[in-house]
Amino acid sequence: MNELKFVTAGQPICNGSAGYENAFKILEELNLDGLELEFVHGVRMSPANKEIVKRVAKEKNMALTAHGPYYINLNSKEEDKIAASITRVLDTARIGQELGAYSVTYHAAFYMGMNPETVYKKVETAMEQICKTLDEEGVDIWVRPETTGKPTQWGNLEEIVKLSKDFKQVLPCVDFSHLHARTNGKYNTYDEFCSIFDYIASELGAYALENFHAHIAGIEYSEKGEKKHLLLQESDMNYKDLMRAFKKFDVKGVVVCESPIMEDDAVLLKEFYNSL
Ligand SMILES: [Zn+2]
Repeated sequence: MNELKFVTAGQPICNGSAGYENAFKILEELNLDGLELEFVHGVRMSPANKEIVKRVAKEKNMALTAHGPYYINLNSKEEDKIAASITRVLDTARIGQELGAYSVTYHAAFYMGMNPETVYKKVETAMEQICKTLDEEGVDIWVRPETTGKPTQWGNLEEIVKLSKDFKQVLPCVDFSHLHARTNGKYNTYDEFCSIFDYIASELGAYALENFHAHIAGIEYSEKGEKKHLLLQESDMNYKDLMRAFKKFDVKGVVVCESPIMEDDAVLLKEFYNSL
């Protein structure tokens, strides 16, 4: 990507049920850059909607990303659930490619009380199968595990970066609010944000910062991690220093805003970023 784009997680709230065509119109009016397609309850979209999303996103030069279903656990104790999880990641990647999306993300696994290294191996084995299948099908899109919001969920920064080293189709989706929540308040200063970008660049190369996928929202949390999303200004999320760090490292790619009224906070983020 040649710039940093700011998009909403799903259709803007103010669009109500007016549909995708109008959603893109609103995004354009708000000077936003696209949206993340939310397949969190299943990878389904009508042919009519597919046609609209594909055509209008292209016409208006809108960036698309996709979020896979919540019901994914590549570390399930049941083999059939792992197989179903793999299918859900594959289906998200397939529809992403079909619609012209830039990148897809998903929450990869739960620890299930197991040793993190054992879990890593299981996730790695599943990713191997996912990447092999996508390669065979010619689906060339990033499949990014997201940094997760609870300490019971697999996916801290180190795990996601390590997995990204192992597969060329994998890069991190960094959910900054999740990192902040899963550590009960860390990752919220300028230096901490810079350390994330530094770490990614040194482990994966500058390329990873030039093709970034991030999630940002206000967030409420406890020692158990993420509780719920909030508006940025009603939370302690230090989005201003986060935007300064994005600027300092000249990060390019897509920032997805997941606040409850995501279009308002996406505008807030973009305008602050552009003022720097
Ligand atoms: Zn997510």
